[in-house]
Amino acid sequence: MTGDGTRCVHGGLETGAVGEPVHPGPVLSATFHLGLPHDPPAHDFYSRPDNPTFRMLESAVGELEGGVCTSFSSGMAAIAAVLRLAAQPGAAIVLPSDGYYVARVLAQDELVPLGVEIREVATAGAWDDQIVDGATLVLLETPSNPGLEVCDIRAVAERAHAGGALVAVDNTTATPLGQRPLALGADLVVASDTKALAGHGDVVLGHVTARDPILADRIKAARTRSGAVPGPMEAWLAHRGLGTLDLRLARQATNAHALALALTTHPAVSDVRWPGLPDDPSYAVASKQMRRWNGVLRFTLRSKEQVGEFLAASRLVISATSFGGLQTTADRRERWGDAVPPGLIRLSAGCEDTDDLVHDVLGALDRIRV
Ligand SMILES: *Cc1c(COP(=O)(O)O)cnc(C)c1O
Repeated sequence: MTGDGTRCVHGGLETGAVGEPVHPGPVLSATFHLGLPHDPPAHDFYSRPDNPTFRMLESAVGELEGGVCTSFSSGMAAIAAVLRLAAQPGAAIVLPSDGYYVARVLAQDELVPLGVEIREVATAGAWDDQIVDGATLVLLETPSNPGLEVCDIRAVAERAHAGGALVAVDNTTATPLGQRPLALGADLVVASDTKALAGHGDVVLGHVTARDPILADRIKAARTRSGAVPGPMEAWLAHRGLGTLDLRLARQATNAHALALALTTHPAVSDVRWPGLPDDPSYAVASKQMRRWNGVLRFTLRSKEQVGEFLAASRLVISATSFGGLQTTADRRERWGDAVPPGLIRLSAGCEDTDDLVHDVLGALDRIRV
């Protein structure tokens, strides 16, 4: 099985016996039969260490990413597990200054007081040797959220490894179909599966995938200790959602491309960024390391008020945070404290018909008072 669509549809599903379900339902059980004292121990005994439904999702995601996957209760739980792995007193951790903001909040509020040095670097900035020198962990986020900046995973991983650091990549925006950081030299992938991977806006979930099975064991042990396990129902919904990731990404990327082109020529809009546009500053690196595009773009209107006028005039674009779902959503990122202009919108193109969406968005922009 080599094609993206085939692997999404079949990943994690075992060949069952006659009469068994093709995609078994969630194993909603905290505890499993232990048997009598002389019975050999079974793999499953309690759903904090493991659960058959987690394993199905992990097997599918791990195959797509080329490593051993451990699911977590959220993207932040996954990031926290990776940060804690490297957070000894005196250690240094490198984080993107323009990446998902809660990772920085966690590092500043919980790791700095433990004596961990946090170095923040812009994703598209200069990754010189001093930045990674002496670090225990370098976390990249490419394309970054919300700026959609990219960095060269292979180049940074080489530098970081030369200094002995582990390299983790937040792959949330790209998804395992869009980018394979482990094949580009990273040790770990972290991601929020709340976004495009599960894809229906109905679960909060995350994962860590490790290239080295020993590192994967440490991640799983950390999950068991901290208790940041997914619910079986969430894992099952994410696995079901993953089946259509290939199809959804295709439509979302088509829609994002059409929107990015249309927005570029609209007088109310500036600074349209989508890594798949050949004149985008991210394009050169992105097209080298990404396997396909996705539905996330950003653009800027002149003010918060204009964002309000645009959202009120659109029939299809829902004002909501998060991204990667079926419906097109727009999020004015300044409201969350991102260091961006008040009119910056991160837009997640959904699976609507392209003509409908472009027509709706351009019509809503035309209604902005200038
Ligand atoms: C949403 C997001 C997270 C956090 O994930 P949750 O599932 O909300 O905990 C981490 N990184 C990126 C890039 C995200 O977009």
